[in-house]
Amino acid sequence: MLPPGSTIGILGGGQLGRMLAVAAAQLGYRVHIYAPDATSVAAEVTAHHSQAAWDDEPRLAAFAATCDVVTYEFENVPVDTVRFLSGHVAVRPGAAGLEIAQDRLTEKNFVAGLGGRPAPFAAVPDRAALDAALEQIGAPAILKTVRMGYDGKGQARIMTAADADAAWDGIGRHAAVLEGFVDFEHEFSVILVRGIDGEVRFWDSPVNVHDGGILATSTLPPPQAVLDQQDEARALMAKIAEELGYVGVLTGEFFACDDGPVFNEMAPRVHNSGHWTIEGAVVSQFENHIRAVAGLPLGSTATAALPVVMHNLIGGGIETVPDLLADPACHVHHYGKAEVRDGRKLGHATWVGTSPA
Ligand code: AMP
Repeated sequence: MLPPGSTIGILGGGQLGRMLAVAAAQLGYRVHIYAPDATSVAAEVTAHHSQAAWDDEPRLAAFAATCDVVTYEFENVPVDTVRFLSGHVAVRPGAAGLEIAQDRLTEKNFVAGLGGRPAPFAAVPDRAALDAALEQIGAPAILKTVRMGYDGKGQARIMTAADADAAWDGIGRHAAVLEGFVDFEHEFSVILVRGIDGEVRFWDSPVNVHDGGILATSTLPPPQAVLDQQDEARALMAKIAEELGYVGVLTGEFFACDDGPVFNEMAPRVHNSGHWTIEGAVVSQFENHIRAVAGLPLGSTATAALPVVMHNLIGGGIETVPDLLADPACHVHHYGKAEVRDGRKLGHATWVGTSPA
């Protein structure tokens, strides 16, 4: 058990790091943010901040020397960074989950190997392979870069084979994977926390609605089809966490289909579809992640009251904050980002035990 006053290092400086830092502070910890970006909304709420490159070994070693444990909030932290730090300080979760989640092909093969069911897929290392993949998978399909994709970035839809050239150019001609288009009823996520002793707890699964590949809303209770598939999806995520010797919060995104849950992707971190847990669960994903990496007992993941509704404030959506503040039942989260850009996540709003007016 990490004593209060210890320092938790967080790799990455965005809103997830900010909300983790607030949870860490509540438990008496100090936080040191390490990120290459010039500005960090996480560092604005912490005492310590290193702005340095992911491969700056002297700076990484100096950072590690100030930390009692290190975690991450960003799934594209280079695996080599985590490996280097692991030689100096405990990093939880470790590099294994990160390495798998950074590569869509590896991830799908790993999950299929554990009995999970991803959408039909084929590797597309180059343009020629795309034609072969389209023959195998058929259209419609989605071409996704193997690496560095998030929030619908690095993706192109292929409605007919005639779209292949535009899709290949659209994703920047990077190594990719072609996925069959899943005819889903709903999207949902499984968010679990695994403690240092291997104990696993799940939050209730929300139904997630995306707009342009970006999460727009998470709502509980989800439709019956999701409730019916939650246990199967949970069993898969628990197996993944076990296999990885995972410590902390792990998220899996699923499509609820006629014939059961289809695995979309996983994130080795706290997740946007779990932001509702700050007010909507007894203990939030952020606090339980900190508890797990600090070796503390896990808190209850039970839902506090239904319904729960979480709306993301994306781009110009942040301008609704004054109206949201006028709603006495709304919990408003503003991430403090200076620049408003289309598609940028700038805040979120949560209602617990009531729906938005
Ligand atoms: P991703 O970044 O892979 O999670 O994709 C973003 C969103 O695009 C998902 O949440 C879905 O709404 C949609 N999507 C991704 N892959 C597929 C698929 N194979 N079939 C249908 N919709 C998809």
